[in-house]
Amino acid sequence: MSSVHNLYDYSYENGTITLKNRKCPRCGSVMAKHTVGGTRWSCGKCGYTEYMKS
Ligand SMILES: [Zn+2]
Repeated sequence: MSSVHNLYDYSYENGTITLKNRKCPRCGSVMAKHTVGGTRWSCGKCGYTEYMKS
């Protein structure tokens, strides 16, 4: 059972929708978001890291 409302954060201030949980494109695991030193997503399973421009 999955709900879209649980997967997305909707900001009423910015009018933007952001993913709470990002799936790793390599292994499909849920990635963790890190905001220290720039926003990036990293997979704890295979080590895949994706950097985001903010
Ligand atoms: Zn992965």
